[in-house]
Amino acid sequence: MDLVFDQQHVWHPYTSTLNPLPCYPVESAQGVYLKLEDGREIIDGMSSWWSTIHGYNHPALNEAAKSQLDKMSHVMFGGITHEPAVELCRKLVDITPEPLQHVFLADSGSVAVEVSLKMALQYWHAKGERRPKFLTVKHGYHGDTFAAMSVTDPNNSMHSLYKGFLPEHIFAQSPNCGFFDEWDESDIEDFKHKLACHHQEVAAVILEPIVQGAGGMRIYHPTFLSRVRELCDEYGILLIADEIATGFGRTGKMFACEHAGINPDIMCVGKALTGGYMTLSATLTTKHVANTVCSGEAGCFMHGPTFMGNPLACAVANASLDILMQGHWLEQVKSIENQLSETLPEIAKLGGVKDVRWLGAIGVVELHEPVDMASIQKAFVDSGVWIRPFGTLVYIMPPFIIKPQELSQLTSAIKLTLE
Ligand SMILES: *Cc1c(COP(=O)(O)O)cnc(C)c1O
Repeated sequence: MDLVFDQQHVWHPYTSTLNPLPCYPVESAQGVYLKLEDGREIIDGMSSWWSTIHGYNHPALNEAAKSQLDKMSHVMFGGITHEPAVELCRKLVDITPEPLQHVFLADSGSVAVEVSLKMALQYWHAKGERRPKFLTVKHGYHGDTFAAMSVTDPNNSMHSLYKGFLPEHIFAQSPNCGFFDEWDESDIEDFKHKLACHHQEVAAVILEPIVQGAGGMRIYHPTFLSRVRELCDEYGILLIADEIATGFGRTGKMFACEHAGINPDIMCVGKALTGGYMTLSATLTTKHVANTVCSGEAGCFMHGPTFMGNPLACAVANASLDILMQGHWLEQVKSIENQLSETLPEIAKLGGVKDVRWLGAIGVVELHEPVDMASIQKAFVDSGVWIRPFGTLVYIMPPFIIKPQELSQLTSAIKLTLE
């Protein structure tokens, strides 16, 4: 592989052309292993950013892609429908909270978030109300497109850089009370206050249920989420749950909203939807929201990407959901959680470690100081694992199929590297 060309011409996520860090060439992948060009096989602790839940090169997912490829790879979705999309939407309606009955398929997580925000805006427009604001919490992450970025943590997404172009929304303090802590009612105060002040201009609340991902890997108390639901009901405001990272079993429940027993009005899913095979996302909503949106001036929901409902992606998503529906993920995620709860407290004792936390198949080590990316990345690869920290956070969310001894290798590598 021409790594010099890569460094000189290929832009990787959040990288500089002035000071490009070297990338590791991956040749193939199997199960939880990434095979590097030099022949080394390393354990993927990231599930390629939350997505590869069943592991790489899965026979059932491969078969679904191959057999769909022989029928049709793509067909437009305007005025045309097809079995893979209908089946997928039926499954999504079945496994998501009962009130969610209408599915909008989209291309990526960020687009699913854009779609959810547009739904909320069209909802209020149809009701004849001007509500241009969204309320969210700090440390959130909702994607890299403009509307998604506008509800993402202002510091992490450098809102100041886009001042005048990015709409300004309302940010409440992020939840402080951890998942396993005792609930502290003061945690919701700032959110409650912001809502009381601004509710007349707020179209919806958007947040990541239970786990805030890329904005800080924070795992918060379910009561925070149930309070948010109660407050949204009290003021008649829509609640958007961004389950793009947390969905499909990652937190130990099929969807993280279940930890609080709440139903959102709009839900975004993505990432693990196709088992990590290709990009696909969906935004689901209730009959009430969908019908209100469509009763407005436009008479329809104003969105329709070219590759909407791509049959190939839908077919693989169906195969991935079939695997989930067999139910093994429950024990797999539980056993990952148990193992993390035994090993992470050991790591917490190391110098430089500020906090460790875990939930389901997610383990987080927060440091006092940001890591040196180039050197820590090399150290991880040299110890046979793929872990990609950011800032002060070293975290893992391995494929659900990871074996105890492979998970030990991940946590030992973290321990060794931090030591
Ligand atoms: C990754 C992520 C997104 C954005 O998804 P992309 O597919 O990267 O556009 C949105 N919300 C959350 C919670 C995410 O983790």
